[in-house]
Amino acid sequence: MAREPNIPVNEPVGDTVKKTTCYMCACRCGINVHLRDGKVRYIEGNRDHPVNKGVLCGKGSAGIMQHYSPARLRAPMRRVGPRGSGEFEEISWDEALKTATDWLGAVRKIDPKRLAFFTGRDQSQSLTGMWAMQFGTPNFAAHGGFCSVNMAAGGLYTFGGAFWEFGDPDWDLTKYFMLFGVAEDHASNPIKIGIGKLKARGAKVVSINPVRTGYNAVADEWVGIRPGTDGLFVGALIHELFRRQKIDLDYLVRYTNAPWLVIDDSGSADDGLFARDADGNPLVHDRKSGGLASGKLADIQPELTGSRYLPDGRKARTVFELMAERYLSGEYSPDVVAERTGVPAEQIRRIAAELADVAFEQEIVLDQPWTDWAGRRHDKMIGRPISMHAMRGISAHSNGFQTCRMIHILQILLGSIDCPGGFRYKPPYPKQTPPNLLPHGALGSIRPEMPLGGPHLGFPHGPDHLLLDGDKPSRLDKGFSWDAPMSAHGLMHMVINNAAKKDPYGIDVLFMYMANMAWNSSMNVPDTLDALTAKDENGNYVIPKIIYSDAYYSETVPYADLILPDTTYLERWDCISLLDRPISEADMVADAIRYPVVEPDRNVRGFQEVLIDLGSRLKLPAFTNEDGSAKYPGGYADYIVNHQRKPGIGPLAGWRGKDGGEFCVGEPNPEQLERYVENGSFFAHEIAPEHAYFKHANRGYLDWGIEKGIRLSAEPTIFQLYSEPLQKFRLAARGHGDRQPPDTHRDRIETHFDPLPFWYPPFEEQMVEGFPLHAITQRPMHMYHSWGSQNAWLRQITAANRLYMHTSIGERIGATDDDWVWLSSHLGRVKCQIRLMEGVNPHTVWTWNAIGKRKGAWGLDNDAPENTRGFLLNHLISELLPKGGGGYRYSNSDPITGQAAWFDLRVNIEKADGAGETEPHFEPLGRGGLPEAPHKLAFGSEFRREPA
Ligand code: SF4
Repeated sequence: MAREPNIPVNEPVGDTVKKTTCYMCACRCGINVHLRDGKVRYIEGNRDHPVNKGVLCGKGSAGIMQHYSPARLRAPMRRVGPRGSGEFEEISWDEALKTATDWLGAVRKIDPKRLAFFTGRDQSQSLTGMWAMQFGTPNFAAHGGFCSVNMAAGGLYTFGGAFWEFGDPDWDLTKYFMLFGVAEDHASNPIKIGIGKLKARGAKVVSINPVRTGYNAVADEWVGIRPGTDGLFVGALIHELFRRQKIDLDYLVRYTNAPWLVIDDSGSADDGLFARDADGNPLVHDRKSGGLASGKLADIQPELTGSRYLPDGRKARTVFELMAERYLSGEYSPDVVAERTGVPAEQIRRIAAELADVAFEQEIVLDQPWTDWAGRRHDKMIGRPISMHAMRGISAHSNGFQTCRMIHILQILLGSIDCPGGFRYKPPYPKQTPPNLLPHGALGSIRPEMPLGGPHLGFPHGPDHLLLDGDKPSRLDKGFSWDAPMSAHGLMHMVINNAAKKDPYGIDVLFMYMANMAWNSSMNVPDTLDALTAKDENGNYVIPKIIYSDAYYSETVPYADLILPDTTYLERWDCISLLDRPISEADMVADAIRYPVVEPDRNVRGFQEVLIDLGSRLKLPAFTNEDGSAKYPGGYADYIVNHQRKPGIGPLAGWRGKDGGEFCVGEPNPEQLERYVENGSFFAHEIAPEHAYFKHANRGYLDWGIEKGIRLSAEPTIFQLYSEPLQKFRLAARGHGDRQPPDTHRDRIETHFDPLPFWYPPFEEQMVEGFPLHAITQRPMHMYHSWGSQNAWLRQITAANRLYMHTSIGERIGATDDDWVWLSSHLGRVKCQIRLMEGVNPHTVWTWNAIGKRKGAWGLDNDAPENTRGFLLNHLISELLPKGGGGYRYSNSDPITGQAAWFDLRVNIEKADGAGETEPHFEPLGRGGLPEAPHKLAFGSEFRREPA
């Protein structure tokens, strides 16, 4: 038997330990990087860090191999062969920056909208957005439109928060946890730690997911739902709660618009809007006075049910009454939804009964006094210990926005938002509802060499806030147009194809960062590659110039003309800011940095450094002093410390003020970054116990939020069960107002902009016949997006993906494990190998996301399993829906937010002959002049010592 290794675990493994923030996924855990002789030897979790408390996942520890990957770019490059060939020459940074400045400067001088600037899963959107605003183009967004904007927008319009970065389950007190469609790579360590706590306490975990892997495999109850029917399932739970009268009526009266009166005057221009008084306050019927009163007053007793007559003689009904009518209707009865969802009626009824039991019979009482928004003192905090969490599985459907809202309605009916045991906001949330940030970038406001009037992305309250020129979209991605009116994160998945079609207009420069848009981040890869290489009648590229920044040689690099090579996450400054998506926990306001723990050994620069440099070369006002000199000569670190969004408010909250004694608000502190580094690269401030819950209506928290600059209004956040902005779009579709949708769009707006959440079938299954199965992806817990595929340690876990399906499908097509099949959709077909399993919805096939690679990319051998047996579903997913009535082709997206509908895909399957390689075949990419990767990657031999 082999001798056990004799490892001295208490000895230091290096000569230095530097504490920074992990970036092997988006969870932002604290890490201790052990260095020896300036090289990374070992990464461990930081036990003092608020996010992971010392826990490190497999991805995090494999950051070493990401950092030393042979696929790392080495120097700026200029394309010398045709696009897609991978033929580049290395150039100096001076030349690269001059070229970029010339290209970008020419656009800004004539027509800023001819720059499209889109970024992927970076964590610096407050900087990139500000840069694009200063440039003056309306065409900016990050990846949210193809990720989970439905989840963010659905939550923010409903209750001023959302899941994940916006809030968490109350892991320490919840007794019943429902998990909908959560990706295992995304919500990683925090969810694992949380589920561990629930298991230790015996709390029940119910997972709703077509596939039983990861978190779903450790749940106490798995609901193997049909993809895209979650809204129907949740609607049936709501139906049961109404039917059994298990609703927290006091909570609805205190915190929601349930008692507000809605005008019932069919055909009028204000039908379906709230009845309001002369000051614009929503009206309720007050039992105390027996008449109408402003719903925002404290000393009233609003009626929840019934209809009333308004002073002008018209009828109005309460929101609660409308909800009861909707959700008590037969279409949401468990017996009716059972077949479509694949969830038996008895199971739905039992889960609804369990929810009611835990919420109302097992309430939690904390002896913690607090004061509500109206100044009323409460001596206890009462909690309904039900919590929920949902992510992309809900979001990435064309009915995702309304489904997300439906989940939040369920939480609110149970009284479980920001109470002990429920969902908890993380500061700076909650925000106002509807959110008060509006989008900017209407075509009429775009001027040469002028910044935009405000941020690109926001939350329209009605047609007046659309970004239109007549009917024509102002934005290249058609965000905030009638195609996707409330597209709070833009539609990055439409940018390349729209640019190539010059629909709505052409551009001169496409500038992208960290988004693999020539492969796994795009729908319909073959057409996207055609769009990137399309030429006009003169033989010039239709998208004339493409600038791309990435740290690695991904499939997108060969399609760019100018490459700005980024560093790894261990080599640069980063700022995980309260202005963006911070690392706050429910009990604390927190943010973090990354700093260079090792120096780059290549000629690369952090993208944020480069962007700031370009900003000053282009003389963008926010990056330039009055004398024309650079405002942040110290680069990104200089910007992080000295930039002020408003007086006293900058990218980092900690150690502000001259002596570092302030937090959140205070003048810049020249030693701020030193304080962060000393503290493990994060700042955290615990909020007072009396502010810990009911933050939406907690006087102390609201006032503290204003004092600390994280809140704009002292008014409470009132939950919008009924969303008036949606009704305003619907009224426009009915012919009211100055801004109305074109005739082609009227029915679509009328149908889907329902102010009360409802379920409708995903579009692809409404429009396509002959494809009986759903096809979805899951995220492997050990890889994040495509990043893991060049990682020698993570590839040992998964290097080729199978198509997983229920054994009954295998029997039907006469195929078994490792057989090859053809999977086809209305767009195309893919050849892949299968694996049979029981833990999957029988109408669904699935595979791991982003494992399949294109030959030539990521420093892999051409015969690597990722290239020969790995495959993508992307080739089957069309970016456009088939032609509907009127002949218009909408994007394959949610009609409200523009969220990419990845999981609407419908497929057919048949057995393929023999073995072989995955198809379709793509020509191998040139290797961009990167040195040949070693056949075998090894790490750490220089650290090896003789065994003791
Ligand atoms: S969960 Fe994500 S951020 Fe945390 S250690 Fe793992 S990879 Fe890093």
